[in-house]
Amino acid sequence: MYKEILQSLQKKSVKLLAVSKTKSVTTIQKFYDKGQRDFGENRVQEMVEKHAQLPQDINWHLIGHLQRNKVKYIVQFVHLIHSVDSLRLAKKINEEASKINRTVDILVQIEISDEKTKFGWNYHDFIESKKELLDLENIRLVGFMGMAKNTTDEDIIREEFQEIKSHFKKFKSIINQSYFTELSIGMSSDYLIAVEEGATIVRIGSLIFGSL
Ligand SMILES: *Cc1c(COP(=O)(O)O)cnc(C)c1O
Repeated sequence: MYKEILQSLQKKSVKLLAVSKTKSVTTIQKFYDKGQRDFGENRVQEMVEKHAQLPQDINWHLIGHLQRNKVKYIVQFVHLIHSVDSLRLAKKINEEASKINRTVDILVQIEISDEKTKFGWNYHDFIESKKELLDLENIRLVGFMGMAKNTTDEDIIREEFQEIKSHFKKFKSIINQSYFTELSIGMSSDYLIAVEEGATIVRIGSLIFGSL
């Protein structure tokens, strides 16, 4: 399954982020040996432990909700934080990154589903804070992330992806920076729709690792 998915994504220049949460280091090493370098985790503690045990050239992506008091544990090595959903969190990442003279790449997680269980930053609220966020010198906003509603109704999912894509295009013209390129949308159940709607990164767990 991994090889087929990888090849179909490569044809469209979409990056496969292997979501390895709850998977063992042995399992992750097997995918590393097949050439996979980008892995996504949703818990800080788990990511820190795996980072210590696995090859150092892995790109670790934090995809889950991030608490400000945990930023310091990942700031040295994290490749991309997908889940920035407030100015307070962005400021904290900036503060920790500046202590170690690093610039950390982030995505803003835009709220696209009305499911209250999902985190995300309302686009219009984000726009109100954009100047303050863009002034932070030790973070670099490289794109948006979104999670569609957990539903089997493909029309709803597609509409939600179209909504974030339209925000993405609008904001790309506002920010006018060549590095603002990433749209992280799509998981196992909806990545095909996400690719059709312009994903540049898809976050796939159960489909490639099994749903254990
Ligand atoms: C778990 C998770 C995924 C992957 O989910 P699958 O259904 O296993 O592909 C993607 N994004 C986020 C934010 C997740 O927490």
